[in-house]
Amino acid sequence: LLARLEEIKDLPNETADGVRIQLLGNIEFPSETELVLSRGADGIGLYRTEFLYLTGNIEPSEEVHYAAYKEVAEAMNPLPVVMRTLDLGADKLSMLPTPDDERNPFLGLRSIRLALKHVDLFRTQLRAILRASVSGNIRIMFPLITTLIELRRAKMMLADAMEDLEEEGVPFDRDLPVGMMVEVPAAVLQMDRFCDEVDFFSIGTNDLVQYTLAVDRSNKDVASLYTSADPAVIKLIQMSIDAAGEAGKPISLCGQMSGSPLYTMLLLGLGLRSFSVSPSATLEVKRVMRGVTIEHCEKVAKRVLDLESSRDVKTYLREELLKLL
Ligand code: PEP
Ligand code: MG
Repeated sequence: LLARLEEIKDLPNETADGVRIQLLGNIEFPSETELVLSRGADGIGLYRTEFLYLTGNIEPSEEVHYAAYKEVAEAMNPLPVVMRTLDLGADKLSMLPTPDDERNPFLGLRSIRLALKHVDLFRTQLRAILRASVSGNIRIMFPLITTLIELRRAKMMLADAMEDLEEEGVPFDRDLPVGMMVEVPAAVLQMDRFCDEVDFFSIGTNDLVQYTLAVDRSNKDVASLYTSADPAVIKLIQMSIDAAGEAGKPISLCGQMSGSPLYTMLLLGLGLRSFSVSPSATLEVKRVMRGVTIEHCEKVAKRVLDLESSRDVKTYLREELLKLL
């Protein structure tokens, strides 16, 4: 039987058979660190940094970036904070500098592509992240990585920013871990190669669902097709977890899926040991985790992998969840 939410807040993030699970928070604003900490999270698995661009109408300076990042790093220290670099464009519009005449914005100049095109903007952010890295346990993560070349260009930009700061005598953490989002099917298919190039991964199911099923994540008319329960999506998640596991690289999942208790058993059964969820969902996910064994979750996952439709997957997972209540 599941415990009441408030009773588990201070208990360890672990399964009923004592397997420790990393439970991280997703944030957008520095002020949200308080909520993350109050829910007993192990750190921040996704800091969406776009907010600086979505509110004001002038381009934020390096100092503005730095102040926000330092605040988060210090508030969470010594817990880890995964800072995702700018993911502007498509669903995250701003005054600048996304083109407004794109036919398919989700297939267009968004996210890392936009950052690599507007190198001044990217450099400003990278410098600020590096400067904040001495104030806490900072990691950096690139979004929407599709090709190896793209990742290498982003890493090169980071190395250049490090060199500049070194010349200026500005301190930063030279060893800060570098990771990437897995949110494009191409990245999943090339996981073995990406494993050689990054320190960690985070699966972004919000975009992975959209790009796998060819369904615009923001289009109401096709919303019924948009689901993490689709067998193809689950297969890609399994492939990502397996590939990272084989290479010994940590992998988390920071899309909405990890914050839904419906999927907790499935994800644990697929081998996921790190979840990054919106702070409000932390305790519900933790409650399910604490109520199940890995052995049981593996059986659930095995069963799910045999199902043929998202409807069957959801029905089955709902039944399994109800058994716990
Ligand atoms: C995702 O795509 O799953 C993700 C976490 O990023 P965002 O929702 O910000 O695109
Ligand atoms: Mg995304």
